[in-house]
Amino acid sequence: MKRKRPPALPKRTPMPADEQPPIKWPAQARWRATHPQARRAHVLVRAAVRKGTLVKQPCEDCGDPNSEAHHPNYAEPLRVVWLCRQHHKRRHARR
Ligand SMILES: [Zn+2]
Ligand SMILES: [Zn+2]
Repeated sequence: MKRKRPPALPKRTPMPADEQPPIKWPAQARWRATHPQARRAHVLVRAAVRKGTLVKQPCEDCGDPNSEAHHPNYAEPLRVVWLCRQHHKRRHARR
């Protein structure tokens, strides 16, 4: 007879589209659950940077070397704009 093992901590629970992740989740976990495409793009960028197929650049706006990848279009995960935290936030704030 097979006994069900108690479920481990839900690490990768897929989130139904019409459901919001629980408030108690850390902001990053909530963001990941609500932006699966963005998350995938970031994973691909990190892998490409590690492999050397994508080279991290300083912030396009101010030259800060501590930059992160911004995706104008998540459907093109390796087409990124490098921006520092501040300018990255600014891009997203603009509508
Ligand atoms: Zn900047
Ligand atoms: Zn961005």
